[in-house]
Amino acid sequence: AAETVGTAGTAGESRPIDVMSLYPKDMNIYGDSGNVLTVRRRLALYGYEPVMHYYNQGDEWPEHVDLILGGGGQDTGQKKIIDDFFMRADLIRSLAADGVPMLMICGMYQLFGEYFETVDGTRLDGIGVIGAYTVGQDVRMIGNLVEHSDEFGDVIGYENHSGQTFLREGVSPLGRVDHDGTGNNGEDHTEGARVNNVIGTYMHGSLLPKNPKIADFLIRTACERRYGSFEPWVDEAAQAELDRLERFADEARKVAAA
Ligand code: GLN
Repeated sequence: AAETVGTAGTAGESRPIDVMSLYPKDMNIYGDSGNVLTVRRRLALYGYEPVMHYYNQGDEWPEHVDLILGGGGQDTGQKKIIDDFFMRADLIRSLAADGVPMLMICGMYQLFGEYFETVDGTRLDGIGVIGAYTVGQDVRMIGNLVEHSDEFGDVIGYENHSGQTFLREGVSPLGRVDHDGTGNNGEDHTEGARVNNVIGTYMHGSLLPKNPKIADFLIRTACERRYGSFEPWVDEAAQAELDRLERFADEARKVAAA
């Protein structure tokens, strides 16, 4: 069901942006729902009207989607959603090819790849939006993660996964892990992936409150696709809140990078 929240600081014209949270029941751990809250809040602060769609297995796919957010999950959660996910695979692939911005964390990142072979030997096929494959191992990769991305600067988060992900040749990572954390596989220093406007990453955390540049990339791209340009309408109160959120993120980054 769609749910609309108010728009800050503007009167008159309404500029809806349809945001989908993909499988929030089963694929949503370690604070990933914070990404959904962040996109919703920032859209409103920029003077857009976030229309939220929480899509779970068996739900109807909404008529319009501008931005999709997916979270992490246990192997069992991934097994639960996989059949429904495959029914939506063509649709999601074509949205990704069309440039719809998407953020897929951990478990959903793995399923956006080619396959995930879990530690118990079960093979889950992915939808192949991202040229990458994942193999589960016994030792989990757990801890804080700091990476550097040319586009977003220093990105911080938290990882907890058994799957080691390997990018196919030519696929860009989201960033490079030099010090803290394991990243895609603990071997090649890559973390995450970037294909069109789709970002896959192991960063839980929540990611977007700590890294507002990535939130704004997703928002800007969604607005440009829908309205031809991104034109924030930000009043004084909204700007004060955006500044405050920026300070929180800076503090979190300093603590993580220390
Ligand atoms: N179940 C997957 C793994 O362990 C993903 C975990 C997650 O989303 N945090 O690799």
